[in-house]
Amino acid sequence: MDTPDRVAVVGAGAVGLTVAHDLATGGAHVSLFERDAPGSGMTGRAAGICYDAYAEDIDVSVADRAMERIRSLSGTGEFIFHETPYVFLAREGDDAAVSALEEAVERMQVHGREVSTESADEVAERFPIRTDDVALAGVAENAGWADPATYVDLFVDNCEDVGVEFHVGDAVSVRADPPSVVVDGDVVDDDVTDVFDAVVVAAGVHSRRVLEAAGYPIALKPYRVQALVGSCDYHGPIVYDATDESYLRPHPSGVLAGDGVEPVEATPDEWDETADDWFVRDSLAAAGHRTNTDPSVERAWAGLCGATPDRNPLVGEVADGVYVACGWHGHGFMWAPAIGELLAGEILENAGVVPDPFDPRRFDGDESFAVVEGMTQPDDTETEGRPNRTDRQ
Ligand SMILES: Cc1cc2nc3c(=O)[nH]c(=O)nc-3n(C[C@H](O)[C@H](O)[C@H](O)COP(=O)(O)OP(=O)(O)OC[C@H]3O[C@@H](n4cnc5c(N)ncnc54)[C@H](O)[C@@H]3O)c2cc1C
Repeated sequence: MDTPDRVAVVGAGAVGLTVAHDLATGGAHVSLFERDAPGSGMTGRAAGICYDAYAEDIDVSVADRAMERIRSLSGTGEFIFHETPYVFLAREGDDAAVSALEEAVERMQVHGREVSTESADEVAERFPIRTDDVALAGVAENAGWADPATYVDLFVDNCEDVGVEFHVGDAVSVRADPPSVVVDGDVVDDDVTDVFDAVVVAAGVHSRRVLEAAGYPIALKPYRVQALVGSCDYHGPIVYDATDESYLRPHPSGVLAGDGVEPVEATPDEWDETADDWFVRDSLAAAGHRTNTDPSVERAWAGLCGATPDRNPLVGEVADGVYVACGWHGHGFMWAPAIGELLAGEILENAGVVPDPFDPRRFDGDESFAVVEGMTQPDDTETEGRPNRTDRQ
């Protein structure tokens, strides 16, 4: 096939905006279809935590490029990457989490990560967090956070600068053979709105529905997660508690905290967007305990993440000229800068290619699999020892 000239991207989240921008920068004429507003999907609900502390080759290479790009963009417009160490800890009495943490840190170090294990006292000396219940911590230096809304604003501007044509308010369906986009409601006698050389589905947790309708089901299951912002005075590190699988990061109002992963499949068009009372209560208590503060809830919300059977994302071609990028297990924001570049490069055949283990065609799309929560590892050797690759949100 010739290098695609006209490319449609479906979805203006962090991933769709980045791939649209990178395709246009590479010379393609790009139309970007977003049914609501840019960033109105899960990107607008993300905590914005980024790190490079992975224990697998492929994750490491993606994260390295993503972090490099995030840092190079920091300071452009309102987008700022706040360098903040990432402390992941296992509590006293949780021997399984302690061994998983030790093993993970060792493997991260083999991959050249700036990560070390530290005792509760060492962590308490260095950071303003409570550690009297901590058995062992890992500290990843190469980490931080950004406000996802500012990434969206930056990439909307960047896309406009390189000529991406926005179609905002258009929910679309996709067809293969030839790759086409149909604006929902515009289908008359099977007419398609537009035929493209390539179509990229970056519709987040809706990607399965979009591709299934085109005849190409993918192995993606949405699951619900929750987060809140609490007002308090906190200026410490990002913290992930492996024992109760909760996390927090500093926020201009105090702290952003989350956990609440429901290890069951959710329906992308019908789910509860408000946080549960139990989540708000437990998260405020957990964040208050760890940060030695007394946060009060400013706002709380729920969102959906996408799971795949082996916890690797689905990125690549599903049919001739039809591509997908989804299935992030809660890492889609931090990976978007690298994934956009890799996928655009693969489509335009002018740069690196997406790693093989991300090939969406490794699954038929009808697999039955469990949504795996937190540090629980699926029965799959490829993913063993990835305690930081959790469904962290
Ligand atoms: C509470 C929470 C906390 C999180 N924290 C982090 C974090 O700290 N770090 C991290 O890396 N990740 C985090 N995530 C995960 C992150 O939000 C996602 O992985 C990432 O935003 C996915 O981006 P995306 O562009 O693939 O999808 P989305 O941002 O969901 O974008 C998809 C877009 O497609 C549009 N769309 C859908 N269907 C159609 C259609 N038919 N036609 C046109 N448009 C369509 C939607 O409106 C949406 O705007 C978190 C998620 C949640 C919910």
